[in-house]
Amino acid sequence: MKTILFNLIFIVFIQSYCSAESKVVNIFSARQEILMRELIDGFEKKEKIKVNIIASKANQLIKKIEMEGEYTDADILLTVDVARLIAAKNKGLFKKINSSTLKNQIPSIYRDKDDQWFGMSLRARIFIYHEERVTEKELGGYLNLMQSNWKSRLLVRSSNNVYNQSLISAMIHNYGKETTRKFLRKFTNNFARNPSGGDRDQIRAVVAGEGDLALVNSYYFIKMRKNDNENKLKKLKVHFPYDEKMKTHINISGAGVIKYSKNTKNAIKFLEFLISDEAQKIYAEKNYEYPIKDNLNISNFFKEYSIQKKDTLDLNLIADNNKEALIMMGESGWR
Ligand code: FE
Repeated sequence: MKTILFNLIFIVFIQSYCSAESKVVNIFSARQEILMRELIDGFEKKEKIKVNIIASKANQLIKKIEMEGEYTDADILLTVDVARLIAAKNKGLFKKINSSTLKNQIPSIYRDKDDQWFGMSLRARIFIYHEERVTEKELGGYLNLMQSNWKSRLLVRSSNNVYNQSLISAMIHNYGKETTRKFLRKFTNNFARNPSGGDRDQIRAVVAGEGDLALVNSYYFIKMRKNDNENKLKKLKVHFPYDEKMKTHINISGAGVIKYSKNTKNAIKFLEFLISDEAQKIYAEKNYEYPIKDNLNISNFFKEYSIQKKDTLDLNLIADNNKEALIMMGESGWR
């Protein structure tokens, strides 16, 4: 009798342990928890799977997963910019994921050709300019920023920032090495000041009159404008750069499932949830990022910032020029 009872307790214990394990997903997130909270809450409610999130800088999370190896708790690495996703893939941190939902709903230019990372939302690198100090005639593609009329008027953050590195990689692809090298030399010559601060600081510097045009990621400006109760940004306008060779540079936030994940099924469910219409709407309306899917019914406020002409470069190709981009940015004196 004692043995039967013991066995019963043991079975119940094992069952609850197993089901406890299968009801969890651990996310290592280079995105702030506040940006992910509503998405996580929606997922937990829908799937009854508990989400644990550890938020830190992308490089630190990647190092942590590398060091912990098979003992890591991480199921998903969530980060921004395709260059970081490619770096994590090249370190062998991701596993191949077979999900027809992800494949069918994410355009191939925004996901890994080997099914290891997937774009979840889009962002554009755009021009924010002062309407009284810049004429529309002066605006065009990225290459335009090398013209001498921009002397001492341009604001951009430093070259060690991944957003700039990916932009330059994309420019090498679209315009070729020689043109991009020439561009960098002249562009850096047009800076209003030595690069400092993040994208928001460049926008504030336009308001303060330190420069006339800032090169920044779209969501920073859209969010600032949404919260601009004092109308400080009233005179600022958005331009989506394009010319015949390169349209507006698009990058992604995205994720991959960790090679050593113990909750792979839940991890895939989470990624599939992030590209559901419900989650994509949250990306747009709460985070001001562009949905990865077209034809979503999103707010009119956000629609105003629709990208007119997206560059269609396959983001898998960004890695090819990354090293070259870093060298060329260094040579140009962009600090
Ligand atoms: Fe950012």
